[in-house]
Amino acid sequence: MLKKILALCWFGYSTLALAGFEVVALGVEGGVNSANLTAYLIRADNQTQYLALDAGSLLPGISKGLAQGSFPQVTDAVTGDDQPERYIFRQLIGSYFISHPHLDHVAGLLLVAPQDRKKTIYAAADTVQTLHNHYFNWKVWPNFTDAGNGARLGIYRLQTMRPRQRVTLGFTGLTGVLYPLSHAGTLSSMLLISNENQAFAYFGDTGADALEQSNHLERIWQDLAPLVQQKRLKGMIIETSVSNQVADNALYGHLNPTWLLKELKKLEQLSGGAGSLQDLPVIISHIKPSMKQGAASDVTIRQQLEQGNDLAVKFVFMQQGERQQF
Ligand SMILES: [Zn+2]
Ligand SMILES: [Zn+2]
Repeated sequence: MLKKILALCWFGYSTLALAGFEVVALGVEGGVNSANLTAYLIRADNQTQYLALDAGSLLPGISKGLAQGSFPQVTDAVTGDDQPERYIFRQLIGSYFISHPHLDHVAGLLLVAPQDRKKTIYAAADTVQTLHNHYFNWKVWPNFTDAGNGARLGIYRLQTMRPRQRVTLGFTGLTGVLYPLSHAGTLSSMLLISNENQAFAYFGDTGADALEQSNHLERIWQDLAPLVQQKRLKGMIIETSVSNQVADNALYGHLNPTWLLKELKKLEQLSGGAGSLQDLPVIISHIKPSMKQGAASDVTIRQQLEQGNDLAVKFVFMQQGERQQF
């Protein structure tokens, strides 16, 4: 009996102690290079399946991850007849979340669809509609879904997430709540992911509230603040597409360092004021390569974010293929 109780205590403790997130970056840029477009994998520490957060580039990121040792669980013994890349996207990606239907967030999904197995894609109603009507329509691509236009190949089920409703995300062991974001006329979304009592926020493309004439970010900061205060928010992935050299009227629904810092300042104020965001991991995504001579845009963006970082958040710049624990 005592042994049983001890075992139960140990199990309880170990799941609590392990309740964090593993993130693998499959694509970290916001355009131009088709081999490195926005896509991240996230999984609960105590689960085997990942949730894909957008799917701009899947295979190129998986290959880089394998080369860097980011998938130590994938051995010859488990992959069978499959190449490890195929095994990872078929078997280890349990479900997809698509923040909005822009091509740089879905291209990888369209390309692997013919070799994928049945799974669910989670997205806002607008995104589900666009995927059905404008991609899986037998004109730009076969209909790999189980609904919509023409013959249905039935690989993917597109599940609509209503704002602020908690959804169980397939067999990943994660749950998620969707929040709308404003992205220059396109509806984008943030997914607040939970594992046990820990949370992680994934932002699709977004502009600042002031420029988008929106309060979507403000409302998100209000909901994230208590999680920050209770030390339950393990991190966030959010975009900074361009540097401060890009004028406000040319941001087209994206953030630059100045606007990200302004938005994070609001979260700091709601979370208890100065110092409340100290060491919070903020992973910067969707940097648009400038393709010009001189300093690369990621170097400039990094400098500008660090210069203005009186919040003392921990800016993280993940490389394609890299794995980190949060
Ligand atoms: Zn994008
Ligand atoms: Zn976009």
